Amino acid sequence: MLDPAAFASEPAPGRDCGTCTLCCKVYDVPALEKPAGTWCRHCVPGRGCGIHETRPQHCRSFHCLWMTQGWLGPEWKPERSKLVLSVDPATRFMFVQVDPGAPAAWKRDPFYRQIKQWAAAGFAERRHVVVFLNKSATVVLPDRDVVLGVLGPGDRIVARERRTQAGLTYDVEKVAA
Ligand code: SF4
Ligand code: SF4
Repeated sequence: MLDPAAFASEPAPGRDCGTCTLCCKVYDVPALEKPAGTWCRHCVPGRGCGIHETRPQHCRSFHCLWMTQGWLGPEWKPERSKLVLSVDPATRFMFVQVDPGAPAAWKRDPFYRQIKQWAAAGFAERRHVVVFLNKSATVVLPDRDVVLGVLGPGDRIVARERRTQAGLTYDVEKVAA
């Protein structure tokens, strides 16, 4: 069972970014006015951060799930999968941030199959899985994927239960700030 409450926040034994630098591309870094989906001007691809000692707090505190969760296999390493996984601390949604250089990476197996399994595992507790391509969000539900489009600052994802003849499902929408 996927339980973000039990997730470690520090790197798992033996885990190291190595040559991966994908989080320096896929996320925005407000302190550097760096938009999501473009390489940080301080990144040395394949090597790491060029301003390691003075990098913003935003960067210091971040470890992707591949780094902290030893049970994620080598195929999930972001430089290989082209996917950076994290858990939103407020909602406990799982975020899958896709490399815009490989926008369909999350649709490939084994990734898509596993993402669907996580969506099903978190469904009852409303811990949804959200795939981001830059700022554009798609909520993955067990039975379908819901494209919400660009999420602005403060926009929220709201899911409501709905009973159908086939059982319980959710309607998902973006609520503006
Ligand atoms: S995406 Fe993960 S493994 Fe890659 S550089 Fe960032 S923290 Fe390290
Ligand atoms: S400042 Fe360093 S760690 Fe932060 S995004 Fe840029 S290269 Fe990556």
